[in-house]
Formats: sequence, C-alpha cells, structure tokens
Amino acid sequence: MAKGTARYIAGKVERFDQKNEMWRRPRWDPSQHEMGRKVYGTSFTHIREKKPGYTQIDLALGVAGWHVETAFAHGNVTEGTDMYKWDMELVLPYGGAKQPIPDEPYLVSDPSYMSQVIKKAARFLGASLVGICELNRLWVYSHAFHFWTKEHLPLEIPEEYKYVVAIAVEMDCQAIETSPNWPTHAACGLGYSQMAFTATSVAQFIRTLGYKAIPSGNDTALSTPIAIDAGLGELGRNGLLITPQFGPRVRLCKVFTNLPLVPDEPIEFGVTEFCSKCQRCAESCPGQAIMYGGMTDKPHNISNSAGQLKWPIDAEKCFKGQFAGDTSCMNCERVCPFNKPPGWLHDTVRRGVKHTPWLDSFFVGMDKLFGYGKQKRAEDFWLQ
Ligand code: SF4
Ligand code: SF4
Repeated sequence: MAKGTARYIAGKVERFDQKNEMWRRPRWDPSQHEMGRKVYGTSFTHIREKKPGYTQIDLALGVAGWHVETAFAHGNVTEGTDMYKWDMELVLPYGGAKQPIPDEPYLVSDPSYMSQVIKKAARFLGASLVGICELNRLWVYSHAFHFWTKEHLPLEIPEEYKYVVAIAVEMDCQAIETSPNWPTHAACGLGYSQMAFTATSVAQFIRTLGYKAIPSGNDTALSTPIAIDAGLGELGRNGLLITPQFGPRVRLCKVFTNLPLVPDEPIEFGVTEFCSKCQRCAESCPGQAIMYGGMTDKPHNISNSAGQLKWPIDAEKCFKGQFAGDTSCMNCERVCPFNKPPGWLHDTVRRGVKHTPWLDSFFVGMDKLFGYGKQKRAEDFWLQ
C-alpha cells in the first residue's frame, strides 16, 4: 500500500517552479501586481489604538517575532542566503584554538543511532518535531526565484545529499486563537525566526561531524511533502501538514545532508477520513480559498501542482482573503479540530480519530459545541 506522499499521487507530477509560489507572483505576474502592492505596501501599517488586536503593542509583537528572519536569515528572499547558507564556516566557542575539528568525518557505524542523535540535537536546538526521509527530488523546486532581483535560475541539490531532516516548530496557540488579529502575525513570524535558528544550528551540528548540510526554510524545496514523507503528519483539507501533536499549528523547515541516516515511516492517523467529514476550515476561510466536498487532482491556477489527489488551496483567493481589511489570517489553523493544546482529553480524542472513523462527524459536532476554534479576544491574549 502506498505510504507518505505516494498516497496522493494521481498522475504526472512535475517539479514546482518557485516563481509560481503565491508570495512571489506579485513580483512578476501582472494579474497579481495590485494585490502585491496592498500586501507588501500597506499591510500592518494601520495602527488602530481603539481596536484591540490592531494596536501598536500588537504590531510591536509582530515586528519582534519576525526580527530574526527579516534582519538576519532572509530565507524568504532566496535559497542559500545568510542564516540559510549552503556552506558556513564553523566557529568554535571562545575562538576554538584548543579544540580543532578532526579532518576526518565522524565514523557512523550505526546510522540508526546517528538518527537518534540527530533528532535529539534538533530538539535540543529548538525543533518541536523531527523526522527523517530520503530526499525525493520531485519536491525540489525546478527553479529558484529571487524575491528582490527576480533572478530565475534552475535549481538542483547535489546527488550526495541523500537524506532530509524534516523539522516542525510549534506556533503559539493563544496567539493563533486571536486570528485574524495581529498576534497571529507575530506567531507566524516567530515561527519563521525559529525555523532559521533551528535549521542553521542543526546544519552546523552536522558540519562539525564532518558531513555536508543545507538548511532550508520555505526555499529550495516544498516542505510539506518532505514532512509527510518523514512521518511528521498527513495532508489536511486546509492544504497544511496536520501533525498528531499540534495539528496544523506548526511551521516547517528542513536540512538536506549526506550524513548516513535511517528514514522514518510515514504515518496515518485518520486525517484524510476526518477532513472528508469536517469542513470547518472551508467554512471559516474569509477568501473562500478552501474547497468543500471531495478531493481533486485539478489545479486552481499556476500556484498548484497537478497530478496529486488532494484539496488544493486556491492561493490567489487565500492571498486576497488573508489580508482583507489589513488582517492576518490563520483561521484555517485556528478552527481545525486537530489544533489543540496538549492535554489528556485532546490526546484521547486525537487517538480516537485514528481508531474510530465512524465517530468523525460526532467529534466535529462536539468540537463546535464546546466552542473550540472560536476567535478569542486579543485583549485576553495579553492577559494570559
Ligand atoms: S490563511 Fe485564511 S484566507 Fe488563507 S486559506 Fe487559511 S483561512 Fe483561508
Ligand atoms: S478544519 Fe477540519 S477539514 Fe479542515 S483541515 Fe482541520 S480537520 Fe481537516
């Protein structure tokens, strides 16, 4: 039986061109210029002191959350930049004069043990979840598109990079519960900043062992299929990775490497069946970008890949809906029944979803009845 991303393949899949990713389209696609001007020119600039969730304090948290990504990492600009460099000098603590790094790579006699080690190191360095898969080059962008220079060049990862360490970073639940208020933007930005910190630190760990490592955020390759292949979760109706631990409330990064590792098994815990009954994300989407009904392999536009049976997101509508009224939307994460803080009740239900698919509609109903997923007041976010 097909596992991981192989479950979703329904036809010919071609490598995705990063130029067609929605955030880059305003840089070259005339049909998206106006929307790009709004999103990149005026979003988060209208402070409304009398409107909780859109005050200077909320804005300040957003700027702080994004700070490491926007000031130092620049992973959203292009691949291999700053904190995401494909190669980086190893700087030993305190100058390192007395701690030379051996010329020979660390001898990996047991890739299974090394996999445990790399997962422990990744968690130590900030990962909430870690998995390993062999690199399927279908998920590597065919071309990279530089956000500022618009340079558009073919992209390949050298053959020796056989494995990927897939990393998920949890985003703050209380901030996302205020979606579409600005604390959501701060949670998203902090996720990007943590992605850069963790991915580059894991890469340095691997390089210090004498192996090669390429840290990657949203650049270089599609993170969601890699995370699915690495056993971190399944694909949801909202187009996001759904993890058993945090639902869709994670950001993803990865590290490509030639370090000998053992891949994890992809997991299934009933997400596809549950999403077939639940449409809460579609009902709550201000852009109507999320599909109702069954899956399809037909793309909405050039921002989707063809050949995969799923609920493709209409990224053009999401782009418009996400920033309608100068908001910051993560409604599709806020309302998702898999998005819960850890706790025995929530963990029990999540386990139940796997073993009792006939109760899925009941769980969706109970989720609504208990008021889960309802927007929380931004004032309360600051008092928690
Ligand atoms: S981010 Fe908002 S607009 Fe975009 S798909 Fe999710 S709910 Fe819809
Ligand atoms: S809100 Fe419901 S349909 Fe949407 S991703 Fe979550 S479980 Fe699936």
